Amino acid sequence: MIDDPLRNLIRTIPDFPKPGIQFRDITTVLRDADGFGLAIERMRAALDGHDVNMIAGIEARGFIFGAALAREMGLGFVPIRKKDKLPGRTIGMNYALEYGQDRIEIHDDAVGKGDRIALIDDLIATGGTAIAATRLLRSAGTEVPVAVFLVDLPDLGGADRLSAEGPVVHSLVAFDGH
Ligand code: AMP
Repeated sequence: MIDDPLRNLIRTIPDFPKPGIQFRDITTVLRDADGFGLAIERMRAALDGHDVNMIAGIEARGFIFGAALAREMGLGFVPIRKKDKLPGRTIGMNYALEYGQDRIEIHDDAVGKGDRIALIDDLIATGGTAIAATRLLRSAGTEVPVAVFLVDLPDLGGADRLSAEGPVVHSLVAFDGH
């Protein structure tokens, strides 16, 4: 076992939601006050030296870390939601899934031209969701200089794919495989 308290708090559940997927469950980090605190502290440290004025988190687990981080930093928070959840006028971005496609949305007044946004999620796998989120935020005239994930699955290449789009990508913990 790698001796990292944060990594050790992440529980792996095999074959969820389908056979072959090793689900990296972060609820075991959240329920541990020190672990949750350490995750937010390390996310904040990853943002050191990055000039950002807002945090955006991806539904659903990105809301938990993103909102806590935003409070910690004294910044506003923007939820990036799955389609048809937001009540007001939205802008959105479609992205490909293994089978079919999905869509994420924000309110059309959630961010403003010139905002510099840190993108937060619990985990980056293929990078499809985070790349769509980056493109969506940029389509509203913002910049996304940095993205922070609790977990990276480097074998899936998402962090490399996302950095090729521009953001500096930080992750706190990595796991081999899917
Ligand atoms: P991707 O778009 O492929 O980078 O997938 C990232 C999104 O799917 C994140 O919002 C994660 O919460 C979720 N996800 C993908 N793979 C896993 C996994 N092995 N364990 C937990 N969550 C995952």
